[in-house]
Amino acid sequence: MYVNSLTLSNYRNYETLSMESFGSVNLLIGRNAQGKTNLLEALLVLALTKSHRTSKDKELICFGKDSASVQAEVERKYGKIQLELRFSQQGKRASLNGLEQRKLSNFVGSLNAVMFAPEDLEIVKGTPGVRRRFLDMEIGQVQPSYLYHLQQYQKVLIQRNNLLKQAFNSGSNLTVMLEVWNEQLAEHGVKIIRKRKQFIRKLQRWAQQIHQGITGGGEVLQLSYLPSFGVADEEDEAVLLEQFMIKLSQMRDQEIRRGMTLAGPHRDDLAFHINGNEAQSFGSQGQQRTTALSLKLAEIELIHEEIGEYPILLLDDVLSELDPYRQTQLIETFQSKVQTFITATGIESLNASRLQDASIFHVQEGQVHR
Ligand code: ATP
Ligand code: MG
Repeated sequence: MYVNSLTLSNYRNYETLSMESFGSVNLLIGRNAQGKTNLLEALLVLALTKSHRTSKDKELICFGKDSASVQAEVERKYGKIQLELRFSQQGKRASLNGLEQRKLSNFVGSLNAVMFAPEDLEIVKGTPGVRRRFLDMEIGQVQPSYLYHLQQYQKVLIQRNNLLKQAFNSGSNLTVMLEVWNEQLAEHGVKIIRKRKQFIRKLQRWAQQIHQGITGGGEVLQLSYLPSFGVADEEDEAVLLEQFMIKLSQMRDQEIRRGMTLAGPHRDDLAFHINGNEAQSFGSQGQQRTTALSLKLAEIELIHEEIGEYPILLLDDVLSELDPYRQTQLIETFQSKVQTFITATGIESLNASRLQDASIFHVQEGQVHR
């Protein structure tokens, strides 16, 4: 897929902006704090309906304004579509070809994007929560039903936790009600777990191959799912459901004591091993960065596998950290098939020979010129 144009209104530090004539590789050049990341973020927001930097949509609205909008024309295999998202104090609205979508999940997937930014190192180094967020964002982008189960799961989780606290405080026996919540928790939880397992299995295949390419074959990357119950490679829903219910009944007393749900997809994790050693604890900074990059690049192939089109690729401040050989390698891998947007503070820091044909945009104080 290909972004033909982008229009922003009161988005972050852009009052009004209209961009077109994007190329296959686009360089956004500008000094610090001029609005480069904001532009990539706007494209990602169109893909996900939310930002990678904040969960508070209001932060996307320009200081002192009431609402913001992001619009783009996207060229898909089946034709052009007009995407629009509006953010106001009341919430957000999405429309496709001028038609407002009642459900945001109908809008997600109209544009697919993969972003790689410095903070993605946290997927390897950070807490399990960061890795779960990574899984949720990526799976949700290609499978809207995943987002539905995730939302339902989170609702049930809150209510179940409230009930556990109530059971502890009142000392009363709330077994029957707890069982009702258990069933609902397991129903949605199992769907999430199964989709995560399938995703990780496929991601592993591509990530390993890409990682080997980047490291010249010297390193073998292994991804593994760390479930909060059962074994990692079980994908049968009926078996998972049974295991989940058994685990919940085993944990009941402990859950009541602690007032929270202790098993389920909200306690899952993901582990990375390089040549058998855990990357989080033993990997060098460079190995951790390469691992995170391999994951993101693997996603590009995965999205292509799922939907038959390549997503756009957003590289925020990361190309200049690679040596010229790796820069060239990265650009060459995707140049002909993936539309790419790259930010950098200066063109000198980008020395990949393949960047000669790139479209260059200069970003300065919330304005862009060629
Ligand atoms: P760097 O090279 O340091 O990464 P950048 O060009 O990527 O810089 P951005 O992150 O895009 O910079 O931010 C540009 C500016 O946008 C910042 O000065 C920030 O204060 C401003 N900004 C962020 N949110 C808003 C907002 N809601 N309204 C107005 N300005 C904002
Ligand atoms: Mg930036």
